[in-house]
This record gives sequence, structure tokens and C-alpha cells, in this order.
Amino acid sequence: SERTLAIVKPDAVKKNAIGDIINRYEKAGLRPVAMRLMHMSKATAQGFYAVHKARPFFDSLCTFMSSGPCVVLVLQGDNAIKKNRELMGATDPAKAEQGTIRAAHGANIEFNAVHGSDAPETAKFEIGYFFAEMELV
Ligand code: ATP
Ligand code: MG
Repeated sequence: SERTLAIVKPDAVKKNAIGDIINRYEKAGLRPVAMRLMHMSKATAQGFYAVHKARPFFDSLCTFMSSGPCVVLVLQGDNAIKKNRELMGATDPAKAEQGTIRAAHGANIEFNAVHGSDAPETAKFEIGYFFAEMELV
């Protein structure tokens, strides 16, 4: 099995969608092995999204990600990275398939409810950014 980092973003927490989103992970066979409710500082968001620092939306994205509490969690299961990306749907909720988390809870391409690692190397970086090895149960 494989691990991936997921974030229930501040927009989804504000909408009281934490339970629905975690329910979707569990129903798909993705088991939380670490989980934390946290309000990121802007610097923490900037470090997390450093790969996007040259993008025009970087400052706005980091302001959004530090605008309120979010849930960061590590999910484990077979093909966890790909499976979570499928559950999430396309980055732009308007283009996300029916039945996906972003179709259900995303408002627009920025306020899109969830994050999920996109490859094994990014998953390793992102998990290590928020969790120590001994926090993974
Ligand atoms: P994530 O990395 O959050 O799982 P993703 O991999 O689908 O999402 P990325 O291209 O990595 O999308 O973009 C990271 C995040 O930046 C998006 O989830 C979204 O919140 C924001 N974002 C992406 N594109 C835009 C854009 N054109 N305008 C504003 N915000 C954007
Ligand atoms: Mg991404």
C-alpha cells in the first residue's frame, strides 16, 4: 500500500464538510494514519506550496490556505495517491466529475476544498512537511 497527504482546505472546514470528506476517504479504502486540525501561518503555506512560487496565483493561494483552520492528514491504502486524486476531481470544480469532492464542495479553481499529493516524491515531501515518522500510526 501507499501513503498520500490530503488537506481539507479552509473553505471546506468553514462549510462544515470535514465529516463528509473524511467519510469519502474511508469509503474508498483510504485509512487515516495521521491527522491534525491546524491553522497554518502564511509562511507555513508558502513553504508547503513552494513549487508554485513563480505562479501568478501563489500569493492568493497562500493567503487562502492561512485564512482559517484546515485538516491535514496522511491517508494509506492501495494506490492511495491516484485513488485520492480521483476522489478529489479536477482542480477546477466546474470541470470536476460528478460525485467528486470538488464537484460537491469546491467553489472555484482556488477555493477547491481539498489538496492531494500528485506523485510519490511529492507525497514524501508533503507528509514530512507536516508529520514526524513517529506520528504515523
Ligand atoms: P492541490 O495541489 O491543492 O491538490 P492541484 O494539484 O489540483 O491541487 P495545482 O495546480 O497543484 O492543483 O494548484 C495548487 C492549488 O492552487 C489548487 O488546488 C488551487 O487551490 C490553486 N490554484 C491552482 N490554479 C489556480 C488558478 N489558476 N487560480 C487560482 N488558484 C489556483
Ligand atoms: Mg498540486
